[in-house]
Amino acid sequence: MAPGCWPGWSSAGWPVWATAEAAAMTGDPADIAAYHAHVYFDSSETRAAASELRAQIADRFPAARLGSWHEVPVGPHTRPMYQILFPAALLAALLPYLMLNRSGLSILLHPESGDDYADHTDHAAWLGPPLPLRLEVLKARP
Ligand code: ZN
Repeated sequence: MAPGCWPGWSSAGWPVWATAEAAAMTGDPADIAAYHAHVYFDSSETRAAASELRAQIADRFPAARLGSWHEVPVGPHTRPMYQILFPAALLAALLPYLMLNRSGLSILLHPESGDDYADHTDHAAWLGPPLPLRLEVLKARP
């Protein structure tokens, strides 16, 4: 299943922690296998800041997978962005790095629990100003 927040994403060839199926949500954080951080930009200035942050993440966190640049909004996102996909074990190191180095960018951090709607609402955390999301494109689990 391709996570709805990253259209075109495929789990083929990716490690097992990257699949939503690996993180069926029980409410136990130990079941979170992976997180996404969506880094938003909307101008040449913020794109440059996002590019600098991306280079730093690539250099310091080789286990994090950097998604494509989306220069136009995709899925539930209402700004251009790229995604950082990373294993839960990296959260304690990567989250404070993003906190200290986001350069004013808005970043959406969410677990990958297998429930895209909950992950982008109840489960979500924002660094910087929250942005609107087109939640109607995400399916809530029955
Ligand atoms: Zn996501």
